[in-house]
Amino acid sequence: MAPPMSAGTFLDVLRDEGVTVVEVGDWREHNRNHKGPWGPVHGVMIHHTVTHGAERTVRICYDGRPDLPGPLCHGVVTKDGTVHLVGYGRANHAGPGDDDVLRAVIAEKALPPDNEANTDGNRHFYGFECENLGDGEDPWPEAQLEAIEKVAAAVCRQHGWSERSVIGHLEWQPGKVDPRGFSMAWLRERVRDRLK
Ligand SMILES: [Zn+2]
Repeated sequence: MAPPMSAGTFLDVLRDEGVTVVEVGDWREHNRNHKGPWGPVHGVMIHHTVTHGAERTVRICYDGRPDLPGPLCHGVVTKDGTVHLVGYGRANHAGPGDDDVLRAVIAEKALPPDNEANTDGNRHFYGFECENLGDGEDPWPEAQLEAIEKVAAAVCRQHGWSERSVIGHLEWQPGKVDPRGFSMAWLRERVRDRLK
């Protein structure tokens, strides 16, 4: 359990990890804090966007969609491996999920199946949306996968968390399938190696 780091620290730790970062609009103050709490934070959540094209993807994640106001995450990882910061604070990315999963993340234990949506995830997770159609065919370029590994490791390093604090949306909320195209076990292994 930890209070969220400041926006400035968030930017610093991403850059220190070697990530190429672009600051979008008023990202430091762009959030949903007026709708609910932000923190304590317990982990990092990875998503795919079901979009194509960096510019459009970043815009949607900043502004939101007709049914879901932005920001839709904190950072958008586009195909070229650039990380676009679109919000900081509470963001509409995790939605309700499983309290048993949250307990496992806090304890950094193996995750149980997510079969309940009884807990506010937007409060407790940093969120990264990754540009991909999520159809199982759209490729994940190595530059993008490396950036995903780096952002997850950077946040874990700052909070003193292990790779077990990195989860996929599909491990949090029943019915979600993202990210699709690599496994979270595989990503966690990469994050673990980077944290050594
Ligand atoms: Zn998602």
